Amino acid sequence: MTAAASRHMANSFDPARAASLPPADVKLIARRDRAMGAAYRLFYDRPVHVVRGEGVWLYDTDGDAYLDAYNNVPVVGHANPVVQQRVAAQLGVLNTHTRYLGDDVVAYAERVTGLLGHGLEQAVFVCTGSEAVDLALRVARHVTGRRGVIATSHAYHGTTAAAAAISPSLGPNNPIPDEVELIAAPDLASESPAEAAAALASRVTSAVAALRARGHDPAALIIDSVLSSDGLQGTEANVLREAAAAIRAHGGLYIADEVQSGFGRTGAWWGFPSQGVEPDLVVAGKPMGNGMPLAAVFARPEHFDRFGADMRFFNTFGGNQVSVAAGQAVLDELTERGLVERAGVLGASVLNELRGIAAAGNGVGAVRGSGLFFALEVVDDAGRPDAARASAVVNRMRDARVLISASGRDANVLKIRPPLVFAEEHAPILLDALAGALHH
Ligand code: PMP
Repeated sequence: MTAAASRHMANSFDPARAASLPPADVKLIARRDRAMGAAYRLFYDRPVHVVRGEGVWLYDTDGDAYLDAYNNVPVVGHANPVVQQRVAAQLGVLNTHTRYLGDDVVAYAERVTGLLGHGLEQAVFVCTGSEAVDLALRVARHVTGRRGVIATSHAYHGTTAAAAAISPSLGPNNPIPDEVELIAAPDLASESPAEAAAALASRVTSAVAALRARGHDPAALIIDSVLSSDGLQGTEANVLREAAAAIRAHGGLYIADEVQSGFGRTGAWWGFPSQGVEPDLVVAGKPMGNGMPLAAVFARPEHFDRFGADMRFFNTFGGNQVSVAAGQAVLDELTERGLVERAGVLGASVLNELRGIAAAGNGVGAVRGSGLFFALEVVDDAGRPDAARASAVVNRMRDARVLISASGRDANVLKIRPPLVFAEEHAPILLDALAGALHH
């Protein structure tokens, strides 16, 4: 296969569909491929060319509105006016780094760790979830003096070399090193939560043995608290608790990846408490700055004390005043508008409606949800995962101007995860589009 052909295969954009796109977009895609290379992917057979956002809505070049039922970064809404005003004001005052003394980042660290509790009293700031994961791995390896890491078999934890090494969802060409052992995620479609929890813990124990057989003691187990990339397998309580206990029993740390589940997504501030785990380290990012680059590792002081005694840390942009202003605005908006509680209440009613759609025999198997995060397994007549139909449903919804995606090991799990400003009046738009796309 030529390099050009393999580039096209790698990209989700099907050039044969170019005929259905505005000529200006076809040209832009060609420029993008030339200027940005082959690693990028576009969503949807007919990519959406967005120029503006507001609340739960994205607008394209024709001014058409799309209901955003996918993006978790703009947690308090696209172009949120409070975030916008605070960031703009701060840009006019000061934007520098954490090597100077300043109130803002300290006040934010105090506030956000106050929301975490569970002894996670300290915050170290970075710019992306990947950097947070990378730093958490460094801390875990430093504190334990070990190298081995256990992660789930379709996880995504980020783009740095160390984060990609525990991100098997990047596919078969992404190498997983010797010191990483992968374990299957729970399968809530076929296991009860109690069975899933026990089985996961026993897989952790086997993984420890496998690592040791290769000469690596386990430093950490890292799990996304909602197991998003594994097909949203973390929607039931206490599924991760025994696994966390198992890694501890073998002297490793538990890292809760809250990049997806943090900041209210599940109807609670964080995903890990309902899992009954007491993490040693927590990583957060994405919604933390509503699009401004703000991410963090949170830890119990004993771990940062140990790391910090031996190691200097500085991240040029991490925790700068502008990002922190966005972070404070996010916390204000979530709190003052009651968005976390609403995610729980509204999420429960949307989940009921989704179950109704599934029960109506639309080729949907299991339906899961936690707050405003939902997963529907698209299956064929024999009940097997049907990735092709899931992709068709996602594209039909895009054509109906409702944006969702698909994920999971078999790429058949519809992933619905709107900004938390998604409200009662938006639910029928989502549900009608979904029912229509499934019925097709
Ligand atoms: N962890 C999880 C669970 C994620 O979903 C992501 C991003 N999708 C990351 C880490 C990496 O975050 P970022 O893209 O900000 O580097």
